[in-house]
Amino acid sequence: MVVAIQPHCDDVPIFAAGTVLKLIDEGCTGYLITMSDDSMAGAGATFGEIVRKNEQDTLEVSKRLGCREAFFLKYPNHNMDAWPIAEMRARLAFLFRLWKADIVVVYDPSSLYERNPDHYVTARAVEWAAAIAGSHWDYPEHFKAGLTAHAPKERYYFARGPQLVNRVVDISDFIDQKVHVNLANTTQGPAGNTGSTIRKRLAEQGKRLPILGNDDETANREYVKHFALGRDRSRGQAHGLEYAEYFHYIGPDEADMDPSYVEANAVPL
Ligand SMILES: [Zn+2]
Repeated sequence: MVVAIQPHCDDVPIFAAGTVLKLIDEGCTGYLITMSDDSMAGAGATFGEIVRKNEQDTLEVSKRLGCREAFFLKYPNHNMDAWPIAEMRARLAFLFRLWKADIVVVYDPSSLYERNPDHYVTARAVEWAAAIAGSHWDYPEHFKAGLTAHAPKERYYFARGPQLVNRVVDISDFIDQKVHVNLANTTQGPAGNTGSTIRKRLAEQGKRLPILGNDDETANREYVKHFALGRDRSRGQAHGLEYAEYFHYIGPDEADMDPSYVEANAVPL
């Protein structure tokens, strides 16, 4: 069970969609949580229209990722640092227990120079929610409602700025699907219709870029693959791969005393 958590509709698509697609392809069930109400970014005539368009894009992103459900927590966009993080943590812990989440994918709570409060607040809320979801003392009312303590065992942390990278995921086989996911974000983000917009602007000047092809659909797709996701190509090439995503990965805790030590060393009383 993999749960990808993002503050905004374009975060997981840009930084982690290849890995989420790969995990789902390997047999995981996926859920996508969007923390903010996405009311402050994107193209639209009114505040309400932007929220609606971003919501529709997110539902399409979730579908293209192959997730079972897209869930919205609706915190105020660009102002998540004004909201109690303890409340976010409790809601996330509830969902991790409900879905029996094994893996979380989210912004790195320890990355440097992250300037967007929605990004670092989300990261910090998930960081501790994923720990205490496994505690038998936290939120005992959940147990009255039939849930059990259950903590995700693996964390994939992605970042915009510098981070301690200890896992490079080869997404070469999933890059075209990742492009398809990013194309669903037509309201905000670097993908959507950017390629066809550039193609149109150049055509007005009597020019064209061969890399963007001969129609709008190709232009959008090729723009995302070569430019919006150019980061994945350079990250891949640095490790002898075509395309890759970077993470700080935290795996399952290891027991301080290996059970095999007891097996080998226990003697009769
Ligand atoms: Zn964001």
